[in-house]
Amino acid sequence: MINLTSELENVRTVAIAGHVKPDGDCIGSCLGMYLYLTTCFPDVQTDVFLGKIAPEYGFLKGVDQIRHEIDGAGPYDVFISLDSSDKERLGAAGELFDTAKKTICIDHHVSNQGFAQVNYIVPDASSTSELVFEVIGEENVTREMAEAIYTGIASDTGVFQYSCTSSRTMKIAGILMDKGIDFSWIVDETFYKKTYLQNQILGRALMESMLLLDGKCIVSGFRKKDMDFYHVGPLDFEGIVNQLRLTEGVEVAVFLYESGNQEFKVSMRSKSQVDVSEIAVYFGGGGHVRAAGCTMQGTMFDVINNLTPHIEKQLKRKVEQE
Ligand code: 5GP
Ligand code: MN
Repeated sequence: MINLTSELENVRTVAIAGHVKPDGDCIGSCLGMYLYLTTCFPDVQTDVFLGKIAPEYGFLKGVDQIRHEIDGAGPYDVFISLDSSDKERLGAAGELFDTAKKTICIDHHVSNQGFAQVNYIVPDASSTSELVFEVIGEENVTREMAEAIYTGIASDTGVFQYSCTSSRTMKIAGILMDKGIDFSWIVDETFYKKTYLQNQILGRALMESMLLLDGKCIVSGFRKKDMDFYHVGPLDFEGIVNQLRLTEGVEVAVFLYESGNQEFKVSMRSKSQVDVSEIAVYFGGGGHVRAAGCTMQGTMFDVINNLTPHIEKQLKRKVEQE
């Protein structure tokens, strides 16, 4: 466990940042930490850097303080990386990491090798937000911090349902509830709510999905031209891969979208047999055993053809073990 009070002794400036394309856990952990530092360490100048934030997180305190550009910032005394499995995933904020006097990393990705000077990496934790709660300490958590942390935990656990959820996760959730947060509203607002358009493209993704590997793998995706046609971007695809994963008989769900010329961003989810993190790491990405991602080159079918042998190999390995 990290003792932030001692790490921040004689420190005047702190930068907080998470991974590119921030998800609920990344936003929740960064804002939870930002609110803690600005509340309990008012003499320290704290800045938080993140990419574009989806509108459903707009209610969180501190969202309006998030800096989206690095321009002219730093160097900082301390840089805190949250929910990022490696330095490259920090995107532009990596520059602030390089110039900081001290670097701290708090994360829960199995693929994280501990890239900072001080590392607190717990692969068994449901979320980075859960670790931020532990670091802050129950007594210091305000209602606003609790809102951010609860949002992050709910996001990475699929509302306390995925196997990364532990009894500790539930206990923390209970403590956060007792801080007076509107937990059911938060879950509706940040996890379940969809715009009409987001529901339409979810419908299309399900309709166009293909079953492969004897129905054990389901794949769907969007090419650039489809994204342009519907006027949708990466932030609108949140949740589609989780819905695909629910399909009966499926072990692995793959969702991909064209993120550049002949380039696809791949999201993978598994139920119980396949370690998708291993596959993502092989293709230069990372993540968790049951949820991981990477970026791959080629046409949509090249990408699918390159992925499926890895999934098949793991499914066969599992059968042989049984
Ligand atoms: P998602 O599929 O929701 O984008 O990501 C699932 C998990 O894999 C998240 O924990 C996310 O941080 C991680 N992940 C997704 N894409 C990448 C990637 O390109 N590189 C790394 N290192 N991790 C990724
Ligand atoms: Mn996370």
